[in-house]
Amino acid sequence: MQPVPSHFIKNIINEDLKNGKNDSRVHTRFPPEPNGYLHIGHAKSICLNFGLASEYNGLCNLRFDDTNPIKEDVEYVESIQEDVRWLGFDWEDRLFYASDYFQQMYDYAEGLIEAGKAYVCDLSAEEIRRTRGTLTEPGTGSPFRNRSAEENLDLFRRMKAGEFEEGSRVLRAKIDMASPNMNMRDPVLYRISFAAHHRTGTQWCIYPMYDYAHPLSDAYESITHSICTLEFEDHRPLYDWTLNALDYKPHPQQIEFARLNLTRTVMSKRLLRALVETGAVDGWDDPRMPTISGLRRRGYTPEAIRDFCDRIGVAKSNSVVDIALLEYCIREDLKLKVPRVMGVLNPLKVIITNYPEAGVEELRAENNPENPEMGHRPLQFSREIYIEREDFMEDPPKKFFRLAPGREVRLKYAYIIKCEAVIRDEATGEIVELHCTYDPNTRSGEDKSGKKVKGTLHWVSAEHGIPAEVRLYDHLYLDESETEGAEPVLNPDSRIKLAAMVEPCLQKTVTGEHFQFLRHGYFSADPDSREGHIVFNRIVSLRDTWAK
Ligand code: ATP
Ligand code: MG
Ligand code: MG
Repeated sequence: MQPVPSHFIKNIINEDLKNGKNDSRVHTRFPPEPNGYLHIGHAKSICLNFGLASEYNGLCNLRFDDTNPIKEDVEYVESIQEDVRWLGFDWEDRLFYASDYFQQMYDYAEGLIEAGKAYVCDLSAEEIRRTRGTLTEPGTGSPFRNRSAEENLDLFRRMKAGEFEEGSRVLRAKIDMASPNMNMRDPVLYRISFAAHHRTGTQWCIYPMYDYAHPLSDAYESITHSICTLEFEDHRPLYDWTLNALDYKPHPQQIEFARLNLTRTVMSKRLLRALVETGAVDGWDDPRMPTISGLRRRGYTPEAIRDFCDRIGVAKSNSVVDIALLEYCIREDLKLKVPRVMGVLNPLKVIITNYPEAGVEELRAENNPENPEMGHRPLQFSREIYIEREDFMEDPPKKFFRLAPGREVRLKYAYIIKCEAVIRDEATGEIVELHCTYDPNTRSGEDKSGKKVKGTLHWVSAEHGIPAEVRLYDHLYLDESETEGAEPVLNPDSRIKLAAMVEPCLQKTVTGEHFQFLRHGYFSADPDSREGHIVFNRIVSLRDTWAK
């Protein structure tokens, strides 16, 4: 694995190792909530956490942060494991669930109550908010703040036993109603919920809040460095308070880094879920989605995503990364690895009138001119071929070097042809066919004609080519980036389906196989492909818009 470039978190770890902190161990975790599919932002966190563990000979846990039964589901638990593995990371036997610690967390809460550090509060959520004060005013606090430990213990046990309605009572930490940090003004630790949990079923009807469950889960797993995103920075005092309240050892260190934001897409499970539920996309793995499963289906490779995560680096201030960098990374990864073949996306038939009626020739095509080791493939040429409709213009401007009446072009790996006639549909006037002649002395590699032509076109033999569906994608959003609060405008042309003709060598394409289609970009076979109907997703075009 490539080493993660240096950054402030590594500086912290280096310092800790120098001081012998945590017995010089490095133990991280990736803690997704199973309430949606992972996205490329999560990939940043996965690469960081697993990457640090591997670089420092440490460990990294996969932990499901499953403390909110309403939104969670096994479907997500499974997809998350598949995605982490696909990205190339292995948690080995360190798969954990916060829900496995419900009893331990509950016992810890009783300990807090006994120590006078937590109390049962009967205020409604709205009343809690109202008595919390403001940034300039301290909160008045709860009238239940001074309940005795015995009464609190009794009420908390009865909350657990299911005696009270949802929303009627919570367990709160007793900290400081005048704290300048709102998170410290007696935050809620436990709430009542009768929703069935995907793992513990109806065993529990009280659930710990994130800010309480997270530090404890980290501590139970002996995590040394608990890395999270910036918005948790002012939750850190509560993280520390939770562990210090009963002097829990070990005490992991929370470190915050900037989350990944990308232009022209959204990066939150909530918004991604809305796209799925409103039918704006076909599902979580729609190739337009910035989810790991969407990127995989689109044709992105784990190598490209990991490379991207290395390049964006790890910083302490938020920024928006240009999606062109991600596109650059997949081009770089596939450039020397995949065959370059010909696919005609918008076919126009060409008849080579002076070519023998039943003639077929086998030509030799280079699989990847930048990587000669990939060798050659046979390529059939015949009297009827398809070229790209855009490669012909009846009345071309001066700089158009492709085909036009009376003009000559080279067919890649084949001959120079000349356009002699344009055939139209009588009713619609649409061009349906071109009649051309070829020059037998111009076969690629053995051309002695001395002819010079400016344009080289890709083509597919009509008789040998394979019909295929090609799906072209554009960004999901028209706006540059997600603006807080504003409803982003969906791009109505984010997917275009075309009936294409591709080279015969693609006959046996399997799902997930990658190709470069000359002049069109990189493609990958979609799982919608069936016998006799291959579907190709365009991953990216060849045009690189990334400013290096
Ligand atoms: P979302 O807001 O998309 O639901 P989340 O942070 O609530 O994301 P979690 O499942 O809690 O999702 O995330 C698991 C881990 O991934 C957390 O440690 C979180 O900090 C990290 N993470 C989530 N989104 C990003 C992002 N955009 N960039 C970097 N890390 C992220
Ligand atoms: Mg979260
Ligand atoms: Mg979230």
